[in-house]
Amino acid sequence: MTVFLVLFFTTAISADDVLSEILKSEATVTSFDPTLRIGIVQDAAELIFEGDAQLLDGDGRMIGAIQGRCRALPAAGGRQTICGIEYPGTVVFAPKFRFMSVNNRLFRGRVESIRSEKGLTAVNDLHIEEYVRGVVNKEIMPGWHIEAKKAQAVLARTYAVHKKVLRPRNALFDLEPTVLDQVYGGLEKEDVSANQAVAETRGEVLVYRDLPAAVYFHSTCGGHTASAKEVWGTEMPYLVSVPCDYCKGSSLYRWSRVLDAREVTKKLDAAGYTVGTIKKIAVERGATRVAAVVVNGVRIEVNQFRKAVGFMTIYSNDFSVSLSGHTLTFSGKGFGHGVGVCQYGMASLAEKGKDWRTILRYYLPGIEIRKMY
Ligand SMILES: [Zn+2]
Repeated sequence: MTVFLVLFFTTAISADDVLSEILKSEATVTSFDPTLRIGIVQDAAELIFEGDAQLLDGDGRMIGAIQGRCRALPAAGGRQTICGIEYPGTVVFAPKFRFMSVNNRLFRGRVESIRSEKGLTAVNDLHIEEYVRGVVNKEIMPGWHIEAKKAQAVLARTYAVHKKVLRPRNALFDLEPTVLDQVYGGLEKEDVSANQAVAETRGEVLVYRDLPAAVYFHSTCGGHTASAKEVWGTEMPYLVSVPCDYCKGSSLYRWSRVLDAREVTKKLDAAGYTVGTIKKIAVERGATRVAAVVVNGVRIEVNQFRKAVGFMTIYSNDFSVSLSGHTLTFSGKGFGHGVGVCQYGMASLAEKGKDWRTILRYYLPGIEIRKMY
């Protein structure tokens, strides 16, 4: 399993305020402008652009061109230099032939070089369908069944629409290209079947009460998905617990880790939990997952415990623990936060012949599927 995948699953995404923002917003998917702005490099000391492109100013007027490789550097007074020529503000690279490369990565659509406060920020401006082609294989295994890829494409598109409509990252762009949003590296991860999955679900998004849904997914639920209420304390009507043993094929359906209790003490100490030599450790369970770990009487909320000990050590929030001398044995189920779509379950349902709509409706009960365009 690759690192980007793991990080995305284990990032404790907060659902705080998501629902209230949805309810107070008047935005709808039908008024959605299908372009996205991705902040591909932020506040860099230099950027390397390569391609055959016209340079435009912020109003779309042609102010130059590049053919080949060019270095962009921040200059005084909110200016920047590109190939040694100084420009006053934002410069848009509009490729005439093929794609633009930024720091040796290829991107579809246009790229902007923006003089930001601490340097230069590169923003990729492209159609949402082109973006989804770039993220599908970043979030799942490239070899998975086409119906699983279609389900992932719809999740990725819904995530991006939700973000742009309800919670854009900042004034310069809608999404980060990292685990903070969805991992996106331009063209590099596209393949024929990912592109087919995107094309065959074009414009399809998940909707709840006419608004883009807040979608969450994780690698392996281990037997039951978890509700948003249980994991994040926020009730979400379609993020409820459903049974799933379809993820049995995942290497982390069941797991165990043997740790030195003294090492765990050190990690907890570094995270601000002073527990001393571990004499007693137990878990406090909620409906389907562990709510907290109690170490020598000190109660540590489970996400904080996993963060302190390591998301790559304690793979999920569904585990038991036993102590023998200085040896701690954790035995657990699943990988990730457990909320929303179980991706290994999704893969296995696709192999069993279920289509992407059936799969998404199973994990997200009550969700509507709608074509935006
Ligand atoms: Zn599962």
